[in-house]
Amino acid sequence: MIWNETMECMSRDDMHRLQRIRLQRTVERVYHNCEPYRKRMQEKGVAPNDIRSMDDIVKLPFTSKRDLRDYYPFGLLCTPMSEIVRLQASSGTTGKPVVVGYTRNDLNIWGEVGARCFTAYGLGRNDVIQVSYGYGLFTGGLGAHVAVETIGGAVLPMSSGNTEKQIMLMHDFGAVGLACTPSYALYLADALLDSGIPREEFKLKTGAFGAEPWTEGMRKELQEKLGIKAYDLYGLTEIIGPGVGHECEYQDGTHLCEDHFYPEIVDPATGEPLPPGATGELVFSTITKDGMPLLRFRTRDLTSLNYETCRCGRTSVRMSRILGRCDDMLIVRGVNVFPSQVESVICEIPQLEPHYLLIVDRVNNLDTFEVQVEVKDAFFSDEMSKMLELKKHISHRLQSVLGISPDVKLSEPRSIERSQGKARRVIDKRILK
Ligand code: ADP
Ligand code: ZN
Repeated sequence: MIWNETMECMSRDDMHRLQRIRLQRTVERVYHNCEPYRKRMQEKGVAPNDIRSMDDIVKLPFTSKRDLRDYYPFGLLCTPMSEIVRLQASSGTTGKPVVVGYTRNDLNIWGEVGARCFTAYGLGRNDVIQVSYGYGLFTGGLGAHVAVETIGGAVLPMSSGNTEKQIMLMHDFGAVGLACTPSYALYLADALLDSGIPREEFKLKTGAFGAEPWTEGMRKELQEKLGIKAYDLYGLTEIIGPGVGHECEYQDGTHLCEDHFYPEIVDPATGEPLPPGATGELVFSTITKDGMPLLRFRTRDLTSLNYETCRCGRTSVRMSRILGRCDDMLIVRGVNVFPSQVESVICEIPQLEPHYLLIVDRVNNLDTFEVQVEVKDAFFSDEMSKMLELKKHISHRLQSVLGISPDVKLSEPRSIERSQGKARRVIDKRILK
């Protein structure tokens, strides 16, 4: 099902035209209503009427998380405070929170794009949908909430935590959809098993998972463990929250709501635009938001874009799975490592649970790199030789994917800390030194 066929299936030419008009309007607005933007544009020698086509977007200055902090809390608002009806802040995965202000119209847009996501997952007005993203300043809970309300589903606003109750209500209320982080979904999958209630007594069939990077391997795990179809839900506070992009029934890339959020891919080191299909840093310009529009915001998320029409009929651009954030990338003994690469290896090995932790340190000027993995109950053994063999196999697979060989530490079942929100999978002790 498609929520807004006009926008989601528009011809590429029409989309371009619409994006240009909306971008021009946004540039005018920020130039005249927001001093920091005007100053930056003047420094770059660019005025609103220099933006004649979408290609001219490269003339505009970038914005970054840093700018949001510098103008903390309200310096980048483009409307008077009287127009702002909601404030949210990022969960601060990477430092101090950044604040975003929404007008009534911005909240409507959030509902609209969220509705596209949940409709694409096959959910609708007859479904109970459990929202187990955290509610509060973090956009996950309230973002999924407005999406479910907009499609007319029955929203169950659980927030995260209180896991036993989550399972009880999921069962008793017959929740069909579950929206949460993939790592919390894993946690809930275990809790569901522990509850002893037979799977057939649950109506759950669809997951809307996001707010953190996850791999195809993790999707497989979640789909098998929970007996559902697991879809990607992408978003970030600065742009609006969850709802910036979503998968469709083909699970073949994350469609972006590009009539609201115009994406570019740039070289993370130089900021130069990259050709279509290349992997680089995702950059968004919001082209309909009033409260705090952002032009060319550097997400630090690494991905690539595909402009081909999808089998679902949507023409909207699709991004590939987020490899990670530029700043999630570890450099260990000179080699670039993303946690998602480790995850993909772990999910391939049947003896392992999809729980893991990377620990990096520096001893005598040399990087140490440990990967802790959890062995499944059924495979955990006191037999030393069996465990050693498994360890060797994991090391070997990691070496061939990463190009360096970590120390593998096998942990007992359920010993690695579970996450109820965004998982923290990296401990880099070098930063503390
Ligand atoms: P914070 O920056 O504090 O984590 P947000 O909650 O706004 O604040 O997080 C947004 C970020 O979360 C994105 O930039 C991206 O790195 C990550 N993210 C969100 N959804 C997904 C997803 N579906 N896949 C991968 N990463 C995601
Ligand atoms: Zn599609």
